[in-house]
Amino acid sequence: MPSLKFAVLAGDYIGPEVMSEALRVLDAVARQENLTLDYTAADVGGAAIDRHGSALPESTIATCAAADAILFGSVGGPKWEKLPPAQQPERAALLPLRKHFTLFANIRPGLLYRELTDASPLKTARIPDGIDIVCIRELTGGVYFGQPKATTTLPDGDIQAVDTMVYRKSEIERITATAITAARSRKGKLCSIDKANVLETSVLWRKTVTAYVAQHAPELALTHMYVDNAAMQLARDPNQFDVFVTENMFGDILSDEMAVICGSLGMLSSASLGASKNSCGLPFGLYEPAGGTAPDLAGKDLANPCAQILSAALMLRYSFGLEKPAARIEAAVKQAVVSGTRTADIAFGGKSIGTRAMADAVIAHL
Ligand code: NAD
Repeated sequence: MPSLKFAVLAGDYIGPEVMSEALRVLDAVARQENLTLDYTAADVGGAAIDRHGSALPESTIATCAAADAILFGSVGGPKWEKLPPAQQPERAALLPLRKHFTLFANIRPGLLYRELTDASPLKTARIPDGIDIVCIRELTGGVYFGQPKATTTLPDGDIQAVDTMVYRKSEIERITATAITAARSRKGKLCSIDKANVLETSVLWRKTVTAYVAQHAPELALTHMYVDNAAMQLARDPNQFDVFVTENMFGDILSDEMAVICGSLGMLSSASLGASKNSCGLPFGLYEPAGGTAPDLAGKDLANPCAQILSAALMLRYSFGLEKPAARIEAAVKQAVVSGTRTADIAFGGKSIGTRAMADAVIAHL
């Protein structure tokens, strides 16, 4: 019986609520598919600050390092807002985790079922069949990490701040390889997004993506788009994309735009894949909902657990190579929602159910 060894970092506010539902769904699918779950919970974020004085204690890193994947909830919230920025849960837990495990490839499905098009701020006529696209964002390079990064006072008394956008060819090649895998598993279409008319890093980006795809995946239909145009096209006709790949900051902005047009954050999952392989010979990865800790919903049985459940499905697919159980979870979520079982965020004022009942419905559809 294959054993799945993963770390569970639930985090704060709704994090533990949706995490326990995702674990119930995983338990159900494991029983049906003859899999053994071998998971260890560890503190992260505000909860870890309260108990250990640090948002990412050494013991939590050790738990993650001993596992094949991390199932992550979300961190942060009003309770820790007064801490200095560098100690804020998101910055002090998530960024170091990404860096520590070199989680360079962020995969975000932008999925909106046809039955939920009313949840999108876009006109339903533009998305009659919903939305089904994938954003691949480079996650460990670019302007967020480049050096120098500093604020200095100049001799004339003025103040200057500098961030540095930097990319190596090898970093661009490895994210392109991830994008190729995603594009091959879908429609064979890949759009690379950059700002090659202005930025040196984007010139290298475009050149490298073009050469890499020509060499390794000539069968793909590769296109390029400037990021300003991409932001407009996403709002105009999102389904013209199938898979798009872009650098860190552009991906940060475009993936949030994608989340908005897809309706509720409660439905959107994500995977961040690492450079190293786990004991299954597959990418080590961190899997988390696209949304945050939703303090407004915490403790009220109101949060939608689907994003966390779908993140667990991505973990089965990418870090454990279990396509069938992953697809079964995804199908069960879709069937539950399509048949009208909805939490408040996707009920449009109609009848809604709570977090636990939503997970029950998903389990019933497995
Ligand atoms: P948020 O994503 O928590 O909430 C934004 C809106 O989406 C709220 O109306 C919320 O109710 C709704 N929402 C989010 N998840 C939902 C779900 N599962 N079901 C139903 N509705 C859901 O963003 P925010 O309010 O800006 O941030 C709250 C806290 O979360 C902040 O401390 C922020 O730093 C943190 N945060 C953490 C992460 C992370 O851990 N990866 C990501 C984003 C924000």
